[in-house]
Formats: sequence, structure tokens, C-alpha cells
Amino acid sequence: AEPVLEVRDLVKHYPVRNGLLRRSVSAVKAVDGVSLTLDRGRTLGLVGESGSGKSTLARVLVGVEPPTSGQVLVDGEDVSRLSRAGRKQLRRDVQMVFQDPYTSLNPRMSVSEIVGEPFAIHGISPAGGRRAAVGELLELVGLDPDHAARYPHQFSGGQRQRVGIARALALRPKILVCDEPVSALDVSVQGQVINLLEDLQAELGLSYLFVAHDLGVVRHIAHDVAVMYLGRIVEQGAEAEVYDGAQHPYTQALLSAVPVPDPSVRLVATGGARVEPAGTTDPVTGAGATGSVGAIVLEGDPPSPVDPPSGCPFHTRCWLAPTLPEARTEPASAQPPADRPDLGLRQVPTVCETDVPALAP
Ligand code: ATP
Ligand code: MG
Repeated sequence: AEPVLEVRDLVKHYPVRNGLLRRSVSAVKAVDGVSLTLDRGRTLGLVGESGSGKSTLARVLVGVEPPTSGQVLVDGEDVSRLSRAGRKQLRRDVQMVFQDPYTSLNPRMSVSEIVGEPFAIHGISPAGGRRAAVGELLELVGLDPDHAARYPHQFSGGQRQRVGIARALALRPKILVCDEPVSALDVSVQGQVINLLEDLQAELGLSYLFVAHDLGVVRHIAHDVAVMYLGRIVEQGAEAEVYDGAQHPYTQALLSAVPVPDPSVRLVATGGARVEPAGTTDPVTGAGATGSVGAIVLEGDPPSPVDPPSGCPFHTRCWLAPTLPEARTEPASAQPPADRPDLGLRQVPTVCETDVPALAP
């Protein structure tokens, strides 16, 4: 596999001023050292709770915000070192599909103006004329070119997202960064848009970074998966590896909550984590736990991204963290203590071997 996009130790911090006189400055560490590889013609799913930094990473990758530090390479070229012409080409090569097709399309512009706008912005006259090019793009995404004069409100949510995709494709990009592209759509329509993205990928050789909190959707579309927590990637790998053999406790917790439509629903309460035996049914949501692990209910909100925990960012909520000193010396045989749930891990996640402070009892 050949990488089309590589991200190396990417950081995006937002400075915040606090205090009465707003003199002290700290930072929201929205993206805090992310490394990823997207292979050509493949889909990399990026999952994680709300606030984990997915959209921030997406915005940096499409170039609407500069990174604080780190490298982004497209086709092996460091984007910060491109010539002016190279930067212009880059803005064509990497396009974004947004979450909400209701707010991301200008209601005062016709579909033909929306889809054709990238040509105007980039000063491009497509062969055969803009009108024909827009017609072709609409056909490509399964819309009737005769409807090009209509306005966004005359389309359904799924059709609007097709308009957004047509617009993103106008400049023949290599990479689409899709930020929750189906989250705002009815479940019945989500599948159609996912199928369209898959067809377009096969037809045009596109590569996708696909951001979502719905692990079911990601499992369907992604070849590779990265799991983000508090600005960092805690686990990444091929789709089957991650879904069938998750190593990181946070991934296991997310996956154990998959039967619930919105995984974040289960990820709230008060401090720590509890693990319910397999086969139990949640009294509130009615959802049953799947797999051998049972439902892992993460309690409490993630720590603040202004002051994230050192080492593994998940350790403050991790039921395995207290076993870490032993885990570090003997990862393969480490067992959770008797009073901790045994999750049947084949091995303690290697990611925990780094730098995690022992927790106070
Ligand atoms: P969601 O699933 O809700 O879309 P996300 O994973 O996309 O969440 P981000 O929107 O990237 O998360 O936000 C990551 C963190 O960065 C959050 O704590 C957010 O409040 C903060 N953040 C995002 N944009 C800014 C900004 N412009 N200024 C300051 N903080 C920001
Ligand atoms: Mg987001």
C-alpha cells in the first residue's frame, strides 16, 4: 500500500486567556501529537468521543487552519514546503465534505452555483464549459442535472449531502476529508450516501479520511481505523484488527457500546469505569452487551484538553491503569488484580507501557 497522506506528530493548540485580567495564557490541546497514514484508494476511519479533536484534525488536514507543529505529507511532499503553485494544487487535491448538509450549503445559491463555485474560486474553465461540468458532477453523485437551477431547500437531506459531495469533487481531488458526513442524516438515508462514497472511491480512486462517532458506519466503510481520545490516537490498525481484537481499553469500551445508537450516551456518569458481565441488558437504554467482554460503561467526562493527563491520556478512566507497573515489566502475563474485572485481554495493551504514572489508591 502506498501512502497518499501522512501525518507526523501533528499538534494543534488553541491559546486561551484566563484570569480576571486575561493575562495568563494556556492552551486547549485539541490535537496533541497525532501520527496517521492514509493509503491511496483506501478509507481511514477516525473515531472518538465528542471533543476528542477529530474535526480540528480534519480542518488542519484540509488547510483551513495551520498546525501548531508537526508535518503533513501529501504524496510524500511536506505541505509546508510547497511552492505557491504547489499550495494552489494542494487546495484542489484535498477537499472536505461537511457534517451538516443543512447549514453547509448557502441557501441563496442555486445548486449549479454551489457545485460550480470551486471553478470560479480557482479561476478554472472546465473543458466543455462550467454548465456541462456541473451537470456531469450532479450525475456522478446520482442527482438529476436538470435540477441544477434548484435551491438547497428543494432537496432532501440525502440529496443535499450529494450536492456537497459533488462540490467537493469539482476540482478532481485525490483525498476527501469527510467530517461526520452522514451523522445529520436519517439512518435510512445514511446507507445510500455511504454506498455512493464507496462507488465514487472505486470509480475515481479516491482516498478518504472518514470521521465519525458511529462505529457501525465506520466498520462498514473503513479499511483502516484510528481511535482518537483527548487529542491523541490511542489505537490504529486494519479494520478487522481493531474491531475483532481491540487492544486499547478505550477502544474496547467504545466497541462494547456499539449496540447503542450513539456510543457517547453510555460514556457519561461519575468517575472510573464499571464493566458489566456479558449478556446483561442496560436498564436505561435496554441495549444488551455484546461479545465476551460485556458492556464497559465509562463514567465521568474525559479530562480537560487544557490539562490532559500525561502518558496514556485514558489512564484516569482506565480500569487497567493500576496494574501498569507489572504490565510494564511483563506485558504478556500481566493479569488484572482479582478485584478488577478480567476482560479476557490476550495481552495488556502495549500503549500502556509508556510513561503512565501509578495511580494513588
Ligand atoms: P465532535 O464529535 O463533537 O464533533 P471533535 O472530536 O470533532 O468533537 P473538536 O471539535 O476537534 O472535537 O474539538 C476538540 C477540542 O478543541 C474541544 O475541546 C473543543 O472545545 C476545542 N476547540 C475546537 N475548536 C476550537 C477553537 N477554535 N478554539 C478553542 N478551542 C477549540
Ligand atoms: Mg467534530
